[in-house]
Amino acid sequence: MKLQQTVSAGLEITGESLHTGVTVHMQICPQAPDTGIWFGRTDLPGQPRIKAEPGNIIDTKKSVTIGKDGWRIATIEHLMAVLHGLGIDNALVLTDGEEIPSGDGSGLYFAERIRQSGIVTQDKPRRYTVIREPLWVEGTVYKQKEPLKAFLVALPSTDENFGVNFTFTSDHPVTGTQYYQYNHNEDAFVSEIAPARTIAFMKEIEHLRSQGLALSGDLNRAVIVGDEGYCNELRFSDEIARHKVLDIIGDLYLAGSIIGRIIGIRSGHALDLELAKKIVAQADHS
Ligand SMILES: [Zn+2]
Repeated sequence: MKLQQTVSAGLEITGESLHTGVTVHMQICPQAPDTGIWFGRTDLPGQPRIKAEPGNIIDTKKSVTIGKDGWRIATIEHLMAVLHGLGIDNALVLTDGEEIPSGDGSGLYFAERIRQSGIVTQDKPRRYTVIREPLWVEGTVYKQKEPLKAFLVALPSTDENFGVNFTFTSDHPVTGTQYYQYNHNEDAFVSEIAPARTIAFMKEIEHLRSQGLALSGDLNRAVIVGDEGYCNELRFSDEIARHKVLDIIGDLYLAGSIIGRIIGIRSGHALDLELAKKIVAQADHS
């Protein structure tokens, strides 16, 4: 039986946000057992707070954004992945701005800081969200020459564990098709998944910048794909597929600590959220 965990007091991370490019001060505070993961803003009147649940996600277009009543915190997915991956059941994440600091563009910086600061074991058993029946969602990806189907499937686990398989396909000659299979344990999460950065195409960066997005100047916070090759050094040859696994681990944490096998094909945040909603609906009725 695994016990619930929270973070040590006094964990603070300051850094530049990815999309808005401003400096954000973040605190990750310990919480009592059975509290779950909460987000809040310290810079707004009344210091509003909101629980990390599928119904509280208001945008999944460029990053996963939580909020209500006109306030928001964007780009929560990599921090959520680290909380899921390290088994942090209870925490309150406070920011003084509307986006999480980007760290190094992966989950590694958050994972290292949380581990260095210390993980606290609590006196109640962890609650799991168990996938009991196959569930799936599907959509369409328009990024390639022709529209392609995307799928995200949750299957009951055969080994009482959590795992994610992801297939990334692309007609871009540099990336090719990538596949990754992840079986969860905390050390594997930190070494195999947490360091993987998101993909960015040089052409998209130029386009986003023209719209005032992706202002952040450090190009090492993503795997940058140019027309003829990668523009920076990879951390893994299949870093893009691993990052997609990271995103799924983060997004599905909205549904709790999962026991089940997740299979993604070309899926992204929108399908992750749809599946998280289905998982929660199933959990409520089982
Ligand atoms: Zn991501």
